[in-house]
Order: sequence, then structure tokens, then C-alpha cells
Amino acid sequence: MSAGITISDYFDKDLLTEDIYGISRWGDGLITILENGHIGLCQPEKPDSIPTDLTEIIKNLDQRGITAPVLLRVTNFLRSRIDQINISFNAAIDELAYKGKYRGVFPVKVNQQAPVVDRIVEFGRPYDFGLEVGSKAELLIALSHNLSKEAAIICNGIKDSEFVRLALMAQKLGYNCFLVLESPRELDLVLDVAKETDIIPQLGIRVKLTYTVSGNWAKSSGDRSTFGLSIPQVMDVVEKLRQHNALDWLVLQHSHLGSQVPNIIEIRHATQEAARFFVELQREGAPLTHLDLGGGLGVDYTGEHVASANSVNYSLSEYCLNIIETVKDMMDSHDLPHPVIVTESGRACVAQSSMLLFNVLEATHFDSTLKVDAADDDHPLLTKMLEIETYLTHERLQECWNDLQYYRDEVRSLFQSNQINLAMTAKSERTYLYLMNRIKNLLLPAHQCDTTSIGEDMVNALEQAADIFHCNFSLFQSLPDIWAIDQIHPIAPLQRLNEKPQREAILSDITCDSDGKIDRFVLEKGVSNALPVHDLMAGEEYYLGVFFVGAYQETLGDLHNLFGDTNVVTIELKPDGSFEMMHEQEGDTVSEVLSYVEYDPRRMVDTFKVIVENAVRAGRVSAAERKEMISTFKDSIQGYTYFEH
Ligand SMILES: *Cc1c(COP(=O)(O)O)cnc(C)c1O
Repeated sequence: MSAGITISDYFDKDLLTEDIYGISRWGDGLITILENGHIGLCQPEKPDSIPTDLTEIIKNLDQRGITAPVLLRVTNFLRSRIDQINISFNAAIDELAYKGKYRGVFPVKVNQQAPVVDRIVEFGRPYDFGLEVGSKAELLIALSHNLSKEAAIICNGIKDSEFVRLALMAQKLGYNCFLVLESPRELDLVLDVAKETDIIPQLGIRVKLTYTVSGNWAKSSGDRSTFGLSIPQVMDVVEKLRQHNALDWLVLQHSHLGSQVPNIIEIRHATQEAARFFVELQREGAPLTHLDLGGGLGVDYTGEHVASANSVNYSLSEYCLNIIETVKDMMDSHDLPHPVIVTESGRACVAQSSMLLFNVLEATHFDSTLKVDAADDDHPLLTKMLEIETYLTHERLQECWNDLQYYRDEVRSLFQSNQINLAMTAKSERTYLYLMNRIKNLLLPAHQCDTTSIGEDMVNALEQAADIFHCNFSLFQSLPDIWAIDQIHPIAPLQRLNEKPQREAILSDITCDSDGKIDRFVLEKGVSNALPVHDLMAGEEYYLGVFFVGAYQETLGDLHNLFGDTNVVTIELKPDGSFEMMHEQEGDTVSEVLSYVEYDPRRMVDTFKVIVENAVRAGRVSAAERKEMISTFKDSIQGYTYFEH
């Protein structure tokens, strides 16, 4: 992704009043700005319904003792995505007179949380929507659901004989379960277990497409992909099945390109290649009926609608039409029946249905509104620095900026070389902060600014001088992909969106890790290195939302600095703008995260009591203080791992 737009870009155009954050573009009809300047949650398929005010939800949760950070799941959003995926595939099937069916599955690894999988199964029932599993544990999850008879369970992943046995057992119980071979080794296992149990498996084969895609997951496609069978291995498996008179077990072909495929052309090429394999495998004698094209359907996190890592250049309907058309053309040209199309869209199912909401704890500024007065004994360099204010205009902004940097650096070097004292240097630094503030203000929206006269180094430096907002969340626990793969999620304040943001900031989390920060943001005009924000006001919480975090984030997160799971709440939006609490899951307590790393919280309390007791005996602590100290320790150990108010 390019460096994107700069601070001056959004300050100078008439984006000022509205939608600086590009909410109308990435919000996808789900997120909107209400007239009161708050974020509203909408139900796009019910245009008459009143959007629900997100700050009201926070207020309501707060009254119930559920404080930020909180992960909010919206069931309506999940239902609407499952509907849309199925409806779009069925529409493409109708439009192109495709004779096979669409049978989607949700890959459990994308979000294994029970309240999520439960609802996916519920919302998917009308469409015979199934589950994809990649491990024994995930298969057990699938088997614990009352899936429809037609809904598929696709077993991918590396398998041992227990996994194979479970899958065959599921099939015997009436589940529409497919066992996909990921490696030649697994065929021997399957042959053995099938013989032993006398169950004929619905066998699938995972082919490794030679086609490579772009985006963050490029490495998981093509020859070097760690999954699936290469062309010679596919032939070996076919031969071996033939030898065992078992070639007619092979009914499904699977391939997976990797996640978040940015470009529709890549989807088309990969589908084309998969369809070629499908034709050839049938020619070899395998009675294939299901073509499983894996995941990869992307989410437009930035709303830019371009083929880049955090966006996609296609719509859901285009995706479906491209797949159905490509498969149909290939089958028709070989006079083969149209197979059942399976896709394993995880991200596209769940990403939009969750958001992380948190409050800002404090701000660090790199400028100041405190005016500095000149004095007779000022160092001449400082006097010159103070004079900058007399010629600080738009026309001479760059010049002022250059002068300011120069004098500040000169004073610093005089300090280093013992020629100027600490007090004078401090005054120079204060002047610098004050003039930085003046320069920033000149760039503000209200002042029309000719950005072409501003040098790039100045724009960069202004971004460097952005505030740091210290926020009540852990990147490593709640947003691991931002840290690991530079994922961009849309972020916006939840309130005051009818006020011009007067400042800009990067976000820092509450871990002590310098990597725990967010410095790429989606704005109306593209990706920026700073987020426009409002001045924090005393006594008033300022909340931010990170949107579209429903895919992959929840279980990839870790316990860096022992910040645990956040509170999680599932709500359903009502047409009158209210909402109903469906499920509430309290976040980890300190005691819980301590036991994850094998401390025994009770013993810790006991140890602490002994330490306090010794202090009492030594006369350093009174009996009353002892009580106070022990109860503080106990309260902390029972409390939320995040900041509480
Ligand atoms: C992870 C995974 C998926 C999900 O991919 P998305 O891009 O999230 O839709 C599907 N199939 C397999 C085999 C996977 O490993």
C-alpha cells in the first residue's frame, strides 16, 4: 500500500464537516454517522429500521458493570452476511442457468467462539450452510451442532487415525461429512480405518494449484504452499485408490488460495485451474460431485475498492458470478454435469460482525498552547526563534518551519557543548512546542491552505508530531493482525463526529511494548499515518471503535503483559433503534490470567499476607494499614486486567 494521503490532504478540502473517516465507504451500510454526531449501527436489509446509537450501547453496558474494552458482536451483521453470501451464489446460479447447487461452509478456525459458531449454524440452516474443520477439536465442535442433513462438514487439516475415525463415525451417524486428503500419507490411514470400520468415506483431495495470488497470503498459494498435493502426488493418490478399487470414493476436490484475495482476476484464474483439475480427475475415473474452492473472499477494510492488501476490487456478486461462470464453461466444454460448488468463506462471513470499543486514557502532545514571552536575557538564538511568530503566515509556512527546526537544533547543540544552561534550553523547547502548535493550527481545515507550498519533510514531521492517544486495550490480545501482518481495520471515534477534529493522533495500547501501537488509519481519501481526533475533555470519556475485527483476531491474540480476554457482548439490533443483549461473557480476571501462566493466585495472596505480617511486626505498617493492603491486593487479583473506572 502506498504511503497514502497526508495530514494536509484532508485538512484542505471540503471533507471537513463530514465523513473524514470515510465511514460511508467502508461502513458497507452497517456503520453510519447519526445526526447527533455518534456512530450508528444499521440494518441494511431493513431500510426502515432506526439505527442504534453505539454510545447508548456503551452507556447501557456500563450500567451493567461491563466496562471498556469490550468486544461487541452484532448478530444482525452476521446474519446479513450469511444471507448475502448464499443469496448471491444462488442468484448467480439462476442467472447463468447453472445446474449444480451452492453449499457453503464456515471455516471454524476463523472464529471458534461458541456463541459465534452457534449463530452461524442457526442462520445458515435455511441454506444448508455447513462447517469446515482443520483439527480434531474443530471436528468435535462441528459434531456438537445440529447441522441439517445436507449441510457439509469438510475435514481439512493434517490427520491422525483418530481424526479419520471420528470423521467416518460422523458419516455413519448421518452427517454429510467429507474427509479431504491433505497428503499422500493420509491415504494409507484412510484405507486402514475404512477397512477396519467398514465405512466407505466420502473422500476429498486437496490439490495444490500452481497459480499464485497477491496480497498478504501470497506465500500460501502456488508450488511452495505447505498444503495440498502436487500434480505428481495427485496422480499417485489416484493410482493407489484405483489399485484398492476405491477410486469411486473420491467425490470432492478441494483447493484454497489463501485469505483476502485482493483481485478478482486471481479468483478467476484459480477457479479456472481448479476446474481443469476437476475435469481431468473425472477423466481418470473419479466420480467427483463437489468442487470446493476454499476461502479467500475478501473484505474491503479500507473501502477503496482496489486490489490491495486491505481492500478488494470486486463485489460479492461479482465473486459469485465469476466462479459459477468459470466452472460452468469448463464443465460444458467437456459435457460434464455441473458439480455442487462449495466455498469456505470465513473472513467474509464474520469480519464485519464484531467491533472493539475502548476509551482513551490520556494524550501525549508534541505541541503546546502555552505562549512563551521574550525576556531581555534570552539567548540570541531564542530571540530569533520567538520572532518566527511575527512572520508566521500561510505563505511563509515552510520557511517558518525550517527556521524553527534550525534554531531549536542550534540551541540543543549549544546545550550539549556546555554553552547554555538547562533553564534556557527548556525555554527554547517550550517555544518550539508553542510554535509547532501555531503551525499545526494554520493547517487546520478552517484555514484554506495551499498544500503544494508545503514540503514533504514538513508534512512528515507534522505527522511525527501527532499526539499519542493512550488507549485502554492490548493490540496483542485484541488486534494481533495489526501487529503481525499490518492489517488495517477502520477506526473512528464513536462521538463528536459533527465536530471538526482539531488534532490528530496515533494510538498506543496499554502494554509496555513499543510495538503496541496503531499508526495506519483509513480515512475518506485513503490510508493516513495519523487519525484525526478531538481534544479530550476533562470528565468525559472519549471512545474509539475498531471495526470489522470478527475474523481471526479472537483466538490469535496473546497475553502480552498479561492483559487477558476483554469483555464480550453479543447484541441484536431492534428496528426501533434499541437493542437486546443476547449473550455476555466477562473478560479474564487478573487471577485467571495468572493461572494461565501457572501461578496459584491463592498462594500469592498467602505469600503477600506473610510479607505484610512481617512489616507489621517490624513496625513499618500498622494493623489498619495491613487490612487495607491485603484487601487492595485481593481486589486487584479479582479485577479486570484492563483499566477500570
Ligand atoms: C483459513 C482457511 C479458510 C478461510 O479463508 P477465508 O479467507 O477466511 O475465507 C478456508 N479454507 C481453508 C482450508 C483454510 O485454511
